[in-house]
Amino acid sequence: MNPNQCSFCGKKRNEVQMLISGNEGFICENCIEQAHSIVMENVPDNGFSPAEHVDDLKKPKEIKEYLDQYVIGQDQAKKQLSIAVYNHYKRLLHAKDENREVEIEKSNIIMIGETGTGKTLLAKTIAKELNIPFCIVDATILTEAGYVGEDVESILSRLLMVADYDVEKAEKGIVFIDEIDKIARKSDNPSLTRDVSGEGVQQGLLKLLEGSIVNVPPQGGRKHPDQKYIQVNTQNILFIAGGAFDGIKEIIERRLNKQAIGFSSEKLNKTDDDDYILSQLNAIDLRKFGLIPELLGRFPIVTYLDKLTKETMIRIMKEPKNSIINQFVELFKMDGVDLKFSDEAIEKIVEETMEKGLGARGLRGTTEKVLEDYMFNITEHEEIVLTEENIIF
Ligand code: ADP
Repeated sequence: MNPNQCSFCGKKRNEVQMLISGNEGFICENCIEQAHSIVMENVPDNGFSPAEHVDDLKKPKEIKEYLDQYVIGQDQAKKQLSIAVYNHYKRLLHAKDENREVEIEKSNIIMIGETGTGKTLLAKTIAKELNIPFCIVDATILTEAGYVGEDVESILSRLLMVADYDVEKAEKGIVFIDEIDKIARKSDNPSLTRDVSGEGVQQGLLKLLEGSIVNVPPQGGRKHPDQKYIQVNTQNILFIAGGAFDGIKEIIERRLNKQAIGFSSEKLNKTDDDDYILSQLNAIDLRKFGLIPELLGRFPIVTYLDKLTKETMIRIMKEPKNSIINQFVELFKMDGVDLKFSDEAIEKIVEETMEKGLGARGLRGTTEKVLEDYMFNITEHEEIVLTEENIIF
């Protein structure tokens, strides 16, 4: 072993900046860098590594079982989402097959449900399971190009950022577009005047959704003449849109009642049931709500989330892996405090939250409020049992 040269490239000590010694030799900084890039090229990082074969993909049932650990109820949405994601990955594999004769198109998803029922949580959980870049954008901040606000391309800037500017990774990511209902056009008739905030944005979204190469400003926000663009192909990006669609129930109801005229009254009675009505939701209703047909055409899957009942809310408090109760118990445990919730206490917290109308999103705030004094006065090694009596909001 010559202590004066790199054992890999043979360069002398005075030709390199540093030599690092090992058991049997030396290595210079250049060889370290080269070795590093060889490793990076050949070892799939623990980021997204697409399956090579259909057998390696998680089946819809398995995806749903994973979702069950984090999201309570919403079986219909979970099922449809699991199938959509599975098909999406099959599509990616299929696209690699050079002898393919049939082109399988992408199936973006629209999820409809009141606020705080788990739409974002579902999309987020799926992305986590698949280990792919995921970002959430609010449709309300988007405007048609040339107006004040963010261009639709900024959606992709965010995805790129999450993917650490690895374009290939970003091109297989999931984008969750929240509040898609807020960009509905105001009336069912195509307007003659420009509708900056609604229809224009829907038009702008089309090109992202259909799978094209989009020039993305790396910093997001407005385009800047001097900015270099990054080209992103959106063909394999899965778009999931969510919205509360206030008033959609009435639209469905009207359609169902119209169809039912002249038929047995049994069908009419059934429509009283909220969940039944929502289960009848289809693209016609969304069009009536103000989404343009071209946009709807690019969201072939429409799914809905159930309203959260008291029972579901109680389960949400207790059951998910990172449930609110588990989180607070863990927080108190760090001080050696044993925190316990009685069933009645949980029920009271749920009842109080339901009055706020924030869905499950309000549960954390209510619990936090209940525990405020306990957290302020925390002393080590005690036991706190929350009961119906000692719960104060
Ligand atoms: P939205 O439907 O408005 O997108 P989110 O998915 O953001 O609602 O839900 C807000 C929070 O409420 C979540 O972070 C989660 O803690 C809780 N939550 C809502 N629905 C569920 C559910 N079905 N199961 C478990 N937690 C839920």
